[in-house]
Amino acid sequence: MLERIRRWRRERILGQVAIDPATWAHLMAELAVFAGLDANERGRLRDLASLFLYEKRVEPLEGLVLDDAMRAGLAAFACLPVLNLGLEAYRGWHTVLVYPGGFLARHAYTDEHGLAHEEARPLAGEAWEGGPVVLSWDDVESSLALDGYNVVLHEFCHKLDMSNGEANGMPPLPQHMSREAWTAAFTAAYEALCRDIDAGQEGVLDVYAAESPAEFFAVACESFFERPLALKLGMPAVYEQLRQYFRQDPGWRMGALA
Ligand SMILES: [Zn+2]
Repeated sequence: MLERIRRWRRERILGQVAIDPATWAHLMAELAVFAGLDANERGRLRDLASLFLYEKRVEPLEGLVLDDAMRAGLAAFACLPVLNLGLEAYRGWHTVLVYPGGFLARHAYTDEHGLAHEEARPLAGEAWEGGPVVLSWDDVESSLALDGYNVVLHEFCHKLDMSNGEANGMPPLPQHMSREAWTAAFTAAYEALCRDIDAGQEGVLDVYAAESPAEFFAVACESFFERPLALKLGMPAVYEQLRQYFRQDPGWRMGALA
C-alpha cells in the first residue's frame, strides 16, 4: 500500500516537473559520460534528474543565472551515480549552491600540536556532511570531457560516502557486499598510488587522490564513470568494488561503443 502511494506521488510529480524531452535528448547526445546508456537507463536517469530538481534546491549565487538546460545538466551528472541506487541515497540534505567560479572557503582546523587555524583557499567544489553541496560553475563546465575530472561526480560521491558519517572512503555498502573486500581493495590501491607518487611516477588516478582515503574514493569514482577502462586496467579490484556498489558497469557500456 505504502509503496503504491509512493509510486503514485512520484508519477504525479513527474507529470508536473519532468525535464523537457528535447533538452534531455540534447544533453544525452552532447555529454560523452552518458554515451552507452540504453534508452531505458536514459529514461530512468531523466526521471531521477527531474525529481532531484524538484526535491533539492539548486541556488545560483553572486549573479550566476542557471537556465533550465544548465539545471538539467547539473542534475543529470548528480544522478548518474545513483541511477541504480535511487534518490534515497541523497537523503538528509537539500541544497546545492553554485558559484560562478572558484569560491573561497574558510576552514578551521587543528594541527598536530593542538593549535587551531583558519585558512581560506579557492575551491572547485565542496560537500558538507549533512549540509549543502557547493560547486563552481566554471568547474562544472570544465567537467564535460572524459578526462577523469568531474567536480559534480566528485562532490556527489563524497555525499554518498558521508551518508554513514564522516567521509572515510567507504559509503554504506549493501548487504551482499563485504566490508573486508572493500577495505582490502581500496587500501592496497591507495598505498600503491602513494608509493607511485613518492617515486615520481604517474598513477592511474590524479595525485589529489593521495590526499586521504575519502579523496581517493571520490577521485576513483570520477574515473569509474569517465575513464572506466583505464581504471579497470589499472585498479581492477577497486573497479570491481565500485561496479558492485553502483550496480553499473561503465567499462562494459563504454567498451561496447569502441
Ligand atoms: Zn574531494
